[in-house]
Amino acid sequence: MAKAKGKKAIDDGGSASKPTSSASDGGAAKATGRLVHLKIRRQDGRDMPETRRWEEFKVPYLPQMNVNSALQQIQKDPRTVDGTAVAPVVWEAACLEEVCGSCSMLINGQVRQACSALVDKIAPHGEVIVIEPMSKFPCERDLVVDRSRMFESLKQVRAWIDLDGTHDLGPGPRESPEAQQERYPLSRCMTCGCCLEACPQFNDSSPFIGAAAINQVRLFNMHPSGAMHKTARLEALMGEGGVADCGKAQNCVEVCPKEIPLVDSIAVVDRETTKRLLFGWLLK
Ligand code: SF4
Repeated sequence: MAKAKGKKAIDDGGSASKPTSSASDGGAAKATGRLVHLKIRRQDGRDMPETRRWEEFKVPYLPQMNVNSALQQIQKDPRTVDGTAVAPVVWEAACLEEVCGSCSMLINGQVRQACSALVDKIAPHGEVIVIEPMSKFPCERDLVVDRSRMFESLKQVRAWIDLDGTHDLGPGPRESPEAQQERYPLSRCMTCGCCLEACPQFNDSSPFIGAAAINQVRLFNMHPSGAMHKTARLEALMGEGGVADCGKAQNCVEVCPKEIPLVDSIAVVDRETTKRLLFGWLLK
């Protein structure tokens, strides 16, 4: 959801020639008398840091609105607080219910999902809401970042279960409800990138793979079929940038919107890679 299709004329008493306030101000005042003030970091394209700038917008407050819906309000008529018409703010969103992970951004300095950031909670008294793109991934434009590194990491650790062809494989392996319950929380990762944004070890100059991929190794190694490639997954985390590079800051678990026990996953995988390192030669 990124680019607005068009703009509508200002409607603050019938004249389109009075850009003295945000275009939506008039409607907002009529509806609730309240405006939501957003300060957004903009960038025109990838590798264009010289275009970085702040722009401020005011949009009508709507009951129960979240940051995503505030951005949609801007999209309807993108004008800054001084009435200047600007390009629509670009951001990503899909599910709007904290499942897809695409609307991750920094909201008042905290990495989170725009869809679950309620205006009533983050700016209850009309405070300015400051919005920036995540800083650990290349900025494509405005609030859109390129999270390819995360998906490459999933390939690196074989974060899938191999299926041999499309023929009927019969029923899957039986599992106890206890085992399913243990694995389920780990499966909720939506590759949103929040854990990596908050991780001091994850940055441009570090090859650290990060908590999300390590958690996937634990998840797939616990699965009866996935365990067939357990060794390959562990070995993918035994070199440079692997699980041993974790600095144990534990920020990941603090910010994960899905409340995945990431620190536990790192501890489990760390133990397993150490065992493999020490005793793997016995198995050859
Ligand atoms: Fe997002 Fe949590 Fe998955 Fe990290 S582990 S990518 S914070 S859902």
